Amino acid sequence: MLSVIIPAFNEEKTIPAAADTISSILKEAGIDAELLFVDDGSRDSTWATILARAEKNPMVHGIHFSRNFGKEAAVFAGLSEAKGDCAVVIDCDLQHPPGKIVEMYRLWEQGYEIVEGVKADRGTETFMRRFAAKSFYAMISAAVGIDMSRASDFKLLDRKAVNVLINMPEKNAFFRALSSWIGFKTTAVEYEVQDRIAGESKWSTKALIRYAISNIAEFSAAPLLAIVFFGCLFILLALITGIIAIRTEGDWLSLKMLVCLSSGILMIGLGAAGYYIARIYDEIKGRPRFIISERI
Ligand code: UDP
Ligand code: MG
Repeated sequence: MLSVIIPAFNEEKTIPAAADTISSILKEAGIDAELLFVDDGSRDSTWATILARAEKNPMVHGIHFSRNFGKEAAVFAGLSEAKGDCAVVIDCDLQHPPGKIVEMYRLWEQGYEIVEGVKADRGTETFMRRFAAKSFYAMISAAVGIDMSRASDFKLLDRKAVNVLINMPEKNAFFRALSSWIGFKTTAVEYEVQDRIAGESKWSTKALIRYAISNIAEFSAAPLLAIVFFGCLFILLALITGIIAIRTEGDWLSLKMLVCLSSGILMIGLGAAGYYIARIYDEIKGRPRFIISERI
């Protein structure tokens, strides 16, 4: 059986179409499947819509979070609830073409353990967003050691891979990168990013920036090394200015500048180190990644 995991946050408008389209495509292809909607603490009638669909369509299942925990948590909740021999994660807004699930499933039948959906293009995104995404993926690719520039959350995982992921103790997991990092026999299917069928993107710029920083810290300590590098640079600079100051009378303006600059970098350093400590604290508290309040 195939489990289709569909994270949904304030998606009352897209759930009926998502449920109908995905289930009819899979029925037509003769694939035994369950549709598992993960309502990520929506504030609209998403949960009621899922309940109504589940009544009509026996393939539809759902879990409801006690509050919004974020898409990553929703994906991991879906993976831990999935009963299938393989699972596919797909967005509720049908930006990931559901027809590709069949293609992924056939590859899984041929023995592939992970089938990644890779974006043929990034759809209709603004220039700034594209640029930010590009820089983020360059950093995260370097940190994970795998090219992630076209990676997405749209992918199929074999039961083995699902079990590995749900048994990882880390709370701040970044699904897209972690599912590449675990390895396994992998192949890819290209897809064109579609337009959202209804509603709007749930990501504000602020949320995206927070998401990017947290995921970089998740995979890399490079920011801390960058500070070490700056520290060395400053010691060198201090030596040079010291020598110059002995030969001339000393230049107060450049001295002030250097003091400001170095204390700025010190503060960045403290902040960056503090951020990692905060994340360690978050992890050792061991709070659950999500809380399920209802299921169907
Ligand atoms: N989503 C979620 N929790 C959140 C934000 C988003 O479960 O806190 C879901 C959302 O319902 C959708 C998917 O994640 O199914 C992708 O979100 P969205 O379409 O808003 O992101 P975009 O496609 O703009 O990157
Ligand atoms: Mg979307």
